[in-house]
Amino acid sequence: MNYNDLADLMFSDVTETIEDLEKRFPKRDLPDGALVTRFAPSPTGFLHTGSLFTSLIAYKFAKDTNGVFYIRLEDTDTKREIEGSGKDLLKQLREFGIVPMEGYLGDSEKGNYGPYKQSDRAMIYRTVIKALVKKGKAYPCFCTQSDLEELRNKQEAQKITPGYYGQYAKCRNIPVDEAINRIKNGEPYVVRFKSSGNHENKITVHDLIRGNLELSQNDQDIVILKSDGLPTYHFAHAVDDHFMRTNCVTRGEEWLSSLPIHIELFNALGFELPQYAHLPVIMKLDNGNRRKLSKRKDDEAAVSYFLKDGYPSEALIEYLLTIANSNYEEWKAEHKTTSNDEFKLSFDKMSLDGALFDIMKLKFISKEILSRMSKEEITARALTWAKKYDSNLLDLITRDEQYFMSIMNIEREKENPRKDYEKFSDIFPIIKFFYKDYYLELMKNELPFNPFIDKEVTKSLLNEFVDTLDLSLDEQNWFNSLKELGKKYKFAESNKIYKQNKDLYIGHVGDVAEILRITLTSSKQSPNLYYVLQILGKDQIRERIDFVINNKL
Ligand code: GLU
Repeated sequence: MNYNDLADLMFSDVTETIEDLEKRFPKRDLPDGALVTRFAPSPTGFLHTGSLFTSLIAYKFAKDTNGVFYIRLEDTDTKREIEGSGKDLLKQLREFGIVPMEGYLGDSEKGNYGPYKQSDRAMIYRTVIKALVKKGKAYPCFCTQSDLEELRNKQEAQKITPGYYGQYAKCRNIPVDEAINRIKNGEPYVVRFKSSGNHENKITVHDLIRGNLELSQNDQDIVILKSDGLPTYHFAHAVDDHFMRTNCVTRGEEWLSSLPIHIELFNALGFELPQYAHLPVIMKLDNGNRRKLSKRKDDEAAVSYFLKDGYPSEALIEYLLTIANSNYEEWKAEHKTTSNDEFKLSFDKMSLDGALFDIMKLKFISKEILSRMSKEEITARALTWAKKYDSNLLDLITRDEQYFMSIMNIEREKENPRKDYEKFSDIFPIIKFFYKDYYLELMKNELPFNPFIDKEVTKSLLNEFVDTLDLSLDEQNWFNSLKELGKKYKFAESNKIYKQNKDLYIGHVGDVAEILRITLTSSKQSPNLYYVLQILGKDQIRERIDFVINNKL
């Protein structure tokens, strides 16, 4: 009996060979420098902010180089799988504009290198493992959980490196005949890779971001096929990235320490090693300490948090690009309206340390993006967002879309648009005063009028304001007329003049505007007052002024 007999017994169902697979999944015909990248999520829950980052990088490098970006679903950990989450991940990625050119698409698959779901690839893994067993490079391991625990305890007691390797790899020395008998007797087993490495030896590996690294060789006989018939991550990585012809593996830096295992596997299989780029993880400051964003502790670990809160998806993408490449921000400042597709990512501009998540920067970017949308665009986007997340805003938009759009148009579509909104969820509280029912509700609150200004003065001023109001004036002339009105009531025409002669005046034109603003909007802050007047119209202005004079002064 020899390895061939053992392999035939273990994998009697396998009909193909590695050579057949090589033919079935030929090298891709792509231009020089084109990168084949992938995002390989496990369907274990929501889309993590860190995963959006890694998928964005993979997607963008493929796009920038006219390569291929595909998605592979890594669903071999059936215990951790959450039903439906693979599909959801794809949906969420799509919301961020990350659409795979090939691979697992949620409901279907596209491309010639599939199946793209690992659970559908069992025969491919079995074919490859069969070849390894034939060469004596993989073997069945019959150790039970308690055997392994006993081994670990022994190693810990003797203070030696724990693991299944070298002399501690009990099953690697089982004679073939015995292994065959035990399998025939129905004894359960896993398949392990027989490592020929030595932990004392160093290997040099190249990472596109980190450069050359010295790492210890792998010497562990890792499990490659679990007892449930599914492969482990390490083995599936080698087989899938080889046969899907990935030439650039971009993944989180947590995988860097397993790289020696992967290199040994690729070598043993005779597969060409892809390039690797281990990406920085996204960190957070917690009581002065840097730590990884945590699924459990941090809301911002889930991208859904940002969508729900009303950040436009492109704000998060742009923010992640600032983390990805140190020169992106400068480029963006110079190319405010240029598509990000024009910016080319590079590995050498990528930071090595985990990037700190900076919500202030995200907010800054988001404000800028919202301010640059046309009135039609922000209206349509706010509507889409409101349908999902905010019934109050939805109600306002659907009452009268034109009216809403005119509010959104305040100081928009110009060289330096006003940045009133950070996210879609800001819109409702800022603009609800435009609507009569909400205005009356706001009027139930105490109004923040300046207590040093006489109420009778305020009343007369408001009356005269509305009696003489001419909405056909342009902003500058309207403001001049406001100054004139103020002067009649002893308000200086500017803060400067007021300060020079405080005794002569009650206040200045800013105070006049504040009285109006509070009367019409209930608050000291609002979008540009001139446009508030234009949108409300004379009747509504008069109604509000009368209301305040009769009830609030
Ligand atoms: N399924 C692995 C993960 O979710 C993929 C890592 C990789 O990109 O190779 O971490």
